[in-house]
Amino acid sequence: MSNFIVGLTGGIASGKSEVSRRFETLGITVADADLAAREVVAPGSPVLAQIAALFGDEVLQADGSLDRAHLRQRIFANPDDRRALEAITHPAIRARVRAQCEGAASPYAIAAIPLLTEAGGKPSYPWLQRILAVDAPVAVQHARLLKRDAITSQLAEQMIQAQASREQRLAIADDVIVNDGHPDALQAQVEALDARYRAFADAAR
Ligand code: ADP
Repeated sequence: MSNFIVGLTGGIASGKSEVSRRFETLGITVADADLAAREVVAPGSPVLAQIAALFGDEVLQADGSLDRAHLRQRIFANPDDRRALEAITHPAIRARVRAQCEGAASPYAIAAIPLLTEAGGKPSYPWLQRILAVDAPVAVQHARLLKRDAITSQLAEQMIQAQASREQRLAIADDVIVNDGHPDALQAQVEALDARYRAFADAAR
């Protein structure tokens, strides 16, 4: 049971997954909002039923699972539809991530929330005790994105620009991991924060 929960965020390809993996290696439970977003719409789930009630059965595939491509198209050109969808999914995703963190056996837990800044930061997640941002210069994000996802330079640029700025993310962060060099440089930063978070969690108990 962890009551000390750290929100982990960072821009696309900043290195969140790499940082998460290192915390997990130290025995810390990481609950991932992207994963939860897929889990809450599993076939048979109440969230999927609400989505089908709102958008019609055409958003379902023959096997009862969500037709993501169809839904994405629907909301792409229609902000009202997007907001309606988010009003259904966001509370369920947040509740799931929170429950996974609170149920963790580790001394503290990490909620990995890529769009934490865009979602409104701490006020939208009052159960986070701290926010940790993984930070990398835009040019570094861009280069990693090209290499990881094999996309065009223009699309990489658009994906980065569509997110909150580096400054906006840093403004909501209590702690920052700088990931602009060799991946090995992450380990000491992760271990130092892990020691601090264990001490904070101990003191809060
Ligand atoms: P995010 O989860 O923030 O999108 P990832 O952890 O997937 O980012 O990192 C993006 C890509 O960059 C991955 O392919 C990862 O292996 C690579 N990467 C992460 N950190 C570094 C680093 N310090 N040096 C070189 N490559 C890195």
